[in-house]
Amino acid sequence: MHELSVAISIVQSITDATAAEDHGQIAAVNVRVGAMSGVIPEALQFAWTPATRDTPLQGSELRVEFIPAAIYCENCSDTVELPGQRLVCPVCQTRSPRLVRGRELDILSVELQPESQHAS
Ligand SMILES: [Zn+2]
Repeated sequence: MHELSVAISIVQSITDATAAEDHGQIAAVNVRVGAMSGVIPEALQFAWTPATRDTPLQGSELRVEFIPAAIYCENCSDTVELPGQRLVCPVCQTRSPRLVRGRELDILSVELQPESQHAS
């Protein structure tokens, strides 16, 4: 399952980034997933629980912001959002290989539990 390895690498990079400091419990992780990234948001959500097991992120919530793909259409001289994954302008049906966005796979932010909720 491709999304599981993606989820594990997200967990790994957050763990690496926070290991040096005492950040407390992580409550939620916000990521951005583009339509053309090859990652299905629902599958990534599903993979989060096994990926975070026995890590500092166990019990945290994964929030996925989905970014629809968009191309620049020469014919329309405009950036148009795509309804799916075909690189065809939905307005004039011209093919365009110029993907403007949709390949995102970014960790946006990490939210920590409030200090008072630390397990002692
Ligand atoms: Zn067009």
